[in-house]
Amino acid sequence: MSGSTRLSPNNPIFLSSSLHVDDARKAIADLVQELLFESNAMGMPNDIETVSLDQAINRILAKDLLSPTNVPAADNSAMDGFAFNGDCLDMGDAHITLKVIGTAYAGKPYKGSVGPGECLKIMTGALMPIGCDTVLPQEFTINQNPENISVIEFKRNQLQRGENRRLRGEDLQAGSPAVLAGRFLRPSDLGLAASLGIATLKVRRKLKVAILSSGDELRALGQDLVPGSIYDSNRYSLTGLLNRLNLEIIDCGIVRDDPNSLKLAFCEAAQRADVLISSGGVSVGEADYTKQIMQELGDVGFWKIAMRPGRPMAFGTLKPVSGKYPARKTLFFGLPGNPVAVMVTFYQFVRSALLQLNGASQTEVQLTQAITQEAIRKRPGRTEFQRAILGRALDGKPTVRLTGSQGAGILRSMSQANCFVILHHEQGNISAGDWVDVALFDGLL
Ligand code: AMP
Ligand code: MG
Repeated sequence: MSGSTRLSPNNPIFLSSSLHVDDARKAIADLVQELLFESNAMGMPNDIETVSLDQAINRILAKDLLSPTNVPAADNSAMDGFAFNGDCLDMGDAHITLKVIGTAYAGKPYKGSVGPGECLKIMTGALMPIGCDTVLPQEFTINQNPENISVIEFKRNQLQRGENRRLRGEDLQAGSPAVLAGRFLRPSDLGLAASLGIATLKVRRKLKVAILSSGDELRALGQDLVPGSIYDSNRYSLTGLLNRLNLEIIDCGIVRDDPNSLKLAFCEAAQRADVLISSGGVSVGEADYTKQIMQELGDVGFWKIAMRPGRPMAFGTLKPVSGKYPARKTLFFGLPGNPVAVMVTFYQFVRSALLQLNGASQTEVQLTQAITQEAIRKRPGRTEFQRAILGRALDGKPTVRLTGSQGAGILRSMSQANCFVILHHEQGNISAGDWVDVALFDGLL
């Protein structure tokens, strides 16, 4: 089935009174897949760029990063201790005594060789001296005379041959992938690349994402509020959300609830952006003229999703405006206007679509579980996202507590929260003490 058939606003699936969140996610992933396919057919011009490591955080790796060398490059010590030849461990003596003939430092290898009955003091990371294959950790030495560190003694059964030695190529063989294409690059990946001597990475170009807020009541920061008007907050939360993904933002500002202004703004986005995210103007009553415009400009479905908050949402593509090069469609998300609904629908639908469109291999938010400290009312038949704070009980178990009133417009409860409690479609009322699924806003890496 083609994307246009599936997403037509007239298709009964997408007019159904409530679309399951999972079905919406699936439809979005399928359409993004089609866009990728069409882009590939166009040869993806300029979609990969080379950036230095200090610019690569939160970009998406475009090609497997192959290790140019073995890591480690040579056998070395994993411990501070004493390096020796493990032959003596096979000899049956309960205690072994070795003469310390020198020291091997990291970055300053020991030049000579170590014979039977001898050992070297060795530091973590120092190359294994010739003739040595085993390292005795410092703390295993017994009867150590601080006055005389020229001899060490230890119990034979505490150690086996080869222990505490890192082998050449043990972490990575030369030519093997250190980081796979599709990785949303994290600090550790940059460190890993640097450890391999690699100064630049091939990454996906930043997606261009246009944002706009629609609503006659909206005022930009700095403007005076008249009775009934409110500040436009959605563009700022969206900017924050998009900046976390390190994308290029095209701010199309506030657009009045008027078909011509909307049409102009959508055309601008279709010309300049890979993706347009609008907020407001898709609820029942407002959606009618948005629908009309969309019939002209693209192929967009108006969904009622079985979720709370965030029920109405428009989704589809805008046709490329004539002269656009390459002539790609623009992915369109028409999010509901309520400030919390914007964030919830972004986390649920937009984030993973943006990552997928930009070639990321891991696009889903990872869930964890915690025990709810309070009962939560929940109606089966829709997915609910409650703002909450993840903590820890005295017994060490993870707990979660809601951040007060959960109205779709109440940003304060979102601002205080560090996670969503996700109550799934089929779930009913939750009792205090039940385990619930939790999606954290921030990951560590
Ligand atoms: P709508 O989806 O346009 O019906 O808007 C739903 C609610 O969200 C209304 O109370 C709007 O005033 C509010 N709203 C819409 N857009 C924004 C915005 N950009 N910033 C803050 N509130 C908004
Ligand atoms: Mg509105």
